[in-house]
Amino acid sequence: MDGDSLTRAAAPAAWRQVIGGRRTGAVSGARIDVTCPSDGEVFATIPASSAEDVDLAVRAARRAFDEGPWGRIPAVERGRLLTRLGQLVKRHAEELAALESRDTGKPLRQGRADVTATMRYYEFYGGAADKLHGDTIPFLDGYTALTLREPHGVVAGIIPWNYPLQILARVAGAALAMGNVLVVKPAEDASLTTIRIAELGLEAGFPEGVFNVVTGTGGEAGAALSGHPGVDYVTFTGSPATGTAIQQAAALNNRGVTMELGGKSPQIVFADADLDKALSVLVNAIIQNAGQTCSAGSRVLIERPAYDALADALADRFAKLVAGPHDADPERDLGPLVSARQQARVAAMVEEAEASGISVLARGRVDEHAPQGGFYAAPVLFGAVDPAARIAREEIFGPVLSLFSFEGEDEAVRLANSTDYGLVAGIWTRDGARQHRLAKRVRAGQVFVNSYGAGGGVELPFGGFGRSGHGREKGFEALYDMSATKTVVFDHR
Ligand code: ADP
Repeated sequence: MDGDSLTRAAAPAAWRQVIGGRRTGAVSGARIDVTCPSDGEVFATIPASSAEDVDLAVRAARRAFDEGPWGRIPAVERGRLLTRLGQLVKRHAEELAALESRDTGKPLRQGRADVTATMRYYEFYGGAADKLHGDTIPFLDGYTALTLREPHGVVAGIIPWNYPLQILARVAGAALAMGNVLVVKPAEDASLTTIRIAELGLEAGFPEGVFNVVTGTGGEAGAALSGHPGVDYVTFTGSPATGTAIQQAAALNNRGVTMELGGKSPQIVFADADLDKALSVLVNAIIQNAGQTCSAGSRVLIERPAYDALADALADRFAKLVAGPHDADPERDLGPLVSARQQARVAAMVEEAEASGISVLARGRVDEHAPQGGFYAAPVLFGAVDPAARIAREEIFGPVLSLFSFEGEDEAVRLANSTDYGLVAGIWTRDGARQHRLAKRVRAGQVFVNSYGAGGGVELPFGGFGRSGHGREKGFEALYDMSATKTVVFDHR
């Protein structure tokens, strides 16, 4: 960052990316405007990097991996560096929360929650760095066979705009813990906290070239990075279409990938559930981050006897929801969407659903004092949605909830599994045997029983089935994705 702190700067601040331990602009000098979603005003600019900048970053990373001190740093020291980074995140917590909130439009309380999770990731992976070890394998007489966990080398992380701090932390935490080096391409809509974390990484003591950040558009910098032959592994969180493009680019070099591509996650509510407890969780799981959450609970399936009562209660809540600026006082239920493009995308899907005759049970509102130029969307609750409708099958990434009714477990499972996605599911019932049956039958990478964890749980392996992607992030499991097994055989006959 140029100058002191962006959040305190009056004029648009010209941010720099981090390549080989140095803060630089794009070679071309080109820049991208950064707008605040709450008012649509430009408050910063970032480098618009091209393939040339990406090449410099990958080379810096390669040098750090192949020749620098990083390769000789013991696992425990890598862990200490990550722990130190977590402590620096804590020291800069308010600055980072304010910056994330301003850059993405999320309410400040969500920015703070994201910073807390971010600290936890660096703490968790700091502690985990020296805990993963290989095996010795019973083999032929006269031989010893063992396995080592080896880093991939240069890991490319392509990060989305919805939770930049957290998603960077889960990628960087696991990748660096296992001894990889990083080139990160944050989303052009929300790059600032990623740059800031890389700066704090330098302060924490990561050697130059270990933690690089290249900013720019997906089509240019992102595409160049995912297809760069100097990259050994690619991890991506974002939309399925972009995931396909990245996998195709990585496939040309036969590189491994981890893909987290969103969801259309169901919450299945049986009539015997604690509906009072469920209510707030159901609402929060779709309005958190204005619905721009991969694991948003965007479909609520309700057992028929409970449908009317729960639909009424949800409609009551939705009618009172208010969207407002990220720094509104008092705080609003949700902030704006991240960009005008996202706002138009959500509005188009809502309009199409309404035009097709799906009934709107309730609609929240946008704060009448919210700046005109902001990218707001009022929350919408749709009832009795046809499972074949587009809003029932496709990710909206906005504060839009669809209700469905079902009769019995089989229909609940069929509906829950009726989309191409399979990221998260919630099951609400007091029947213990049913909890277990359903948890096995729903196709989702995470299943919550009588709760829902949109985005939370640093320790919990996370990832999808089907269109939601493949590979696992978070928890100890991510350490396996971020490393490869090397088998070593000794002949001592
Ligand atoms: P959205 O369409 O909402 O911006 P994406 O999934 O396309 O969501 O974006 C997530 C991340 O992927 C961002 O960092 C973006 O710049 C990047 N990206 C977009 N297109 C490509 C691409 N073709 N190759 C590599 N990265 C890309």
